[in-house]
Amino acid sequence: MSQPKKTFNDLKKDIIDNQICTSCGTCEAVCPVNAIELKNTIPNLIGNCIECGICYANCPSASFDADDMDQKVFGRTRKPIEKLTGIYQKAYQAKTTQEDIHSKAQDGGVVTALLTQFLNEGGDAVIVADLEEDKIWVPKPKVAKTREEVIKAAGTKYTPSPALVGVKQAVKIEKLEKIAVVGTTCQMRGLSLATDGPLKNKKIADAVALKIGLFCMETFNYDDYMQYLKDNDVDPGQVTKFEIKNGRFYAWNGEERLHRAKLANVKPLIRSTCSHCTDFTSEYSDISVGNVGSPAGHSTVIVRNEKGQKILDAAIKSGLIEAILIEDFDKEETLVHKLAEMKKSSHQ
Ligand SMILES: Cc1cc2nc3c(=O)[nH]c(=O)nc-3n(C[C@H](O)[C@H](O)[C@H](O)COP(=O)(O)OP(=O)(O)OC[C@H]3O[C@@H](n4cnc5c(N)ncnc54)[C@H](O)[C@@H]3O)c2cc1C
Repeated sequence: MSQPKKTFNDLKKDIIDNQICTSCGTCEAVCPVNAIELKNTIPNLIGNCIECGICYANCPSASFDADDMDQKVFGRTRKPIEKLTGIYQKAYQAKTTQEDIHSKAQDGGVVTALLTQFLNEGGDAVIVADLEEDKIWVPKPKVAKTREEVIKAAGTKYTPSPALVGVKQAVKIEKLEKIAVVGTTCQMRGLSLATDGPLKNKKIADAVALKIGLFCMETFNYDDYMQYLKDNDVDPGQVTKFEIKNGRFYAWNGEERLHRAKLANVKPLIRSTCSHCTDFTSEYSDISVGNVGSPAGHSTVIVRNEKGQKILDAAIKSGLIEAILIEDFDKEETLVHKLAEMKKSSHQ
């Protein structure tokens, strides 16, 4: 006998009320009757639920089978050396050559440079995390169509930006046909359910031409984050960049360091949902980018499939990116492997 479908009521009970919603926005993006909307990053029912079960089936906190998804996205199972990193082809250390990108970017500016390459190749838009105009450090998904818009959204926001709400805007509302999406691990998992999962969304699957995943250990709760800054006499309105590096949390205004703390001090800001995530490197993307394992001002890049290799090669060829191969990545001894192992073993 088949199981009854799990609907938005179950999503509310199992995921939202249990505080394991990642705020990726996938439920809003895939709802066929547009009955779900995120308010303050939490999904709400705003219309009549037709009990189709699509939101629950596409929720990365509810329905994610990693082995099945490896097969669906990459067409094979993991080799033993891919246990910690997810399926990949090669890894690089890279940075952009474009000073206007590098100066605004978090690390090597590789993500922004790849997105620029995607637009140059005729992509309609890229989904990035910009900031709300009238709120301090509140991320919002942006359907960026120009190089300037992409550069404006460069840099890391440590609170969630529901990337899939941007996908909905681009695909369902603006009817765009070729988009790239950048996002954290949970967002890439939600997106992969929407493009390749058992109840996938054909329009989204057809439109998403490139997935760029970010390495991610955790995200912060916005209210706790702002309170922490206040308690430490940091005016978030003055901060141009937040950074987590070498076991420290920093706030910068240009070159001026406004705050430095041990990571243990910011641990209480981590959202409870992150403690269930076992994916450090955004295993379900075409190409993943982070900073660990590379010198300051550079990015570590994991190419997972042909699509990822093609966009990186094109960006190198057009002079946007410089990259060198990380020869010993297969030895599984890099900092990326160490942190990926830490996340898998400490989270469940
Ligand atoms: C919440 C979070 C935690 C991270 N934790 C780690 C970590 O532990 N270790 C590590 O090595 N790397 C981590 N990263 C990745 C790192 O901060 C950089 O994003 C990465 O190195 C790429 O640098 P870049 O200079 O190429 O990116 P940039 O060229 O600056 O581009 C970054 C892109 O990411 C988008 N973005 C920023 N914030 C978000 C967000 N919250 N959600 C979705 N998209 C976003 C921006 O809009 C931009 O398009 C984290 C990123 C995030 C967002």
